[in-house]
Amino acid sequence: MVEQLSQTLSPQQTPTPQLGYDYDMAIVGGGIVGLTLACALKDSGLNVVLIEAKPYSVAAAKGQAYAVHLLSGHIFAGIGVWDKILPQIAAFRQVYLSDADHANVVEFQTADLGTDALGYVAEHHALLTPLQEFLQKCPNVSYLCPAEVVETQYKTFGVELNLKVGDASRTIRTRLLVAADGARSRIRTGAGINTRGWQYWQSCIVAFVKPEKPHNDTAYERFWPSGPFAILPLPGNRCRIVWTAPHEEAKALVALDDEQFLAELRRRYGEQMGHLELEGDRFVFPVQLMQSDRYVLPRLALIGDAAHCCHPVGGQGLNMGIRDAAALAQVLQSAYNQGEDIGDLLVLKRYERWRKQENLTILGFTDLLDRMFSNNWLLLVVIRRLGLWMLRRVRPLKIFALKLMTGLKGRTPQIAQRAPSEKTISELPQRS
Ligand SMILES: Cc1cc2nc3c(=O)[nH]c(=O)nc-3n(C[C@H](O)[C@H](O)[C@H](O)COP(=O)(O)OP(=O)(O)OC[C@H]3O[C@@H](n4cnc5c(N)ncnc54)[C@H](O)[C@@H]3O)c2cc1C
Repeated sequence: MVEQLSQTLSPQQTPTPQLGYDYDMAIVGGGIVGLTLACALKDSGLNVVLIEAKPYSVAAAKGQAYAVHLLSGHIFAGIGVWDKILPQIAAFRQVYLSDADHANVVEFQTADLGTDALGYVAEHHALLTPLQEFLQKCPNVSYLCPAEVVETQYKTFGVELNLKVGDASRTIRTRLLVAADGARSRIRTGAGINTRGWQYWQSCIVAFVKPEKPHNDTAYERFWPSGPFAILPLPGNRCRIVWTAPHEEAKALVALDDEQFLAELRRRYGEQMGHLELEGDRFVFPVQLMQSDRYVLPRLALIGDAAHCCHPVGGQGLNMGIRDAAALAQVLQSAYNQGEDIGDLLVLKRYERWRKQENLTILGFTDLLDRMFSNNWLLLVVIRRLGLWMLRRVRPLKIFALKLMTGLKGRTPQIAQRAPSEKTISELPQRS
């Protein structure tokens, strides 16, 4: 559905003579992060356009699944979309963390945090579709899809975007451009923002399996010397496998036939869930750590994978992006309410100060976890086993780690605090 470009301006804002605005802000990228920002700006008074290159149904069909942190759930609840998401996703109530098959397993339970769940696991469509539908209730947001931004020109008072909409081209003008266009962000490179980081020596294999026995809402994170291996529960007693291994090994593993692949899986997975059945295809992704040197420039802000990427261990990447979206929405809303120019660097710097350091901490944490565990060096084996022993025995350390993993450390966006009547996991439909 391609919407007509509107020429309206929000009531409090008058057009600057140099550039008549079509929108107060344009968000490029209608993935989960871009959609979260657009939905969080409902009722903000800002006139927003969301531009997504992939057609509506293609974007929702991505075969990805994510660990969703408690804080992300609170953000979705604050937006008003959690009720639609919750019935389609699974909760995990236990997490078992271990160094390969060493007997010292750290058990995290809901009682440790006093919550109904420690987190959730959602397939891509279970997040994307409710957000897309919620946008229809946001009269201040136009959804331009499919439409691709092919050129951007920064002016003192705004940004001019050239779009490809089907066979036609269009130009729109906006005060602020938000890049939510993913890890290979063309907006970021076009603006000359450098990134730092590296490609890991590992790739990540993802697959869906159906175990014979119930998964009991349990997530496992096992650190094998070749890389972390996670099992995440999904509705319908299915599980998501997120398995990191050195590139060559990962390539060889996905090339195996189903029986051989399942045999390798069982070697890491154990027999605790009985017979395993593969569901659908398995995929392999390269893994990288990346942090943009800047999250903002005059008239430009980066969010989600456009700003940072991390190792999949601990399922942090999307959750950081959801927090970026909530933080940016809060900063912009407050600036708008005070009559400030939302594209001004001073305003945007507030968002950068909030999120850049917090994201860097998570990037460092995931990198440290991966490096500490993905080897067989005797000294590191001793240190990490001591670390796991301490996690089991030293309660404040356990709670700290749990809060870090569930997104409850760091500054909480206001939208997460205004989550309405906490519908909790106990209200989820029964799963087989
Ligand atoms: C193997 C693997 C497992 C992962 N597991 C987890 C997990 O368990 N938990 C977690 O939190 N994270 C996880 N992640 C990370 C997560 O996938 C990403 O952080 C997240 O998908 C990024 O979302 P995004 O909206 O920022 O970007 P994307 O999902 O990449 O969305 C960008 C959108 O922008 C659009 N776009 C791009 N350019 C243009 C343009 N010029 N014009 C218009 N539209 C454009 C694209 O079509 C796309 O829809 C994992 C990643 C990998 C690789």
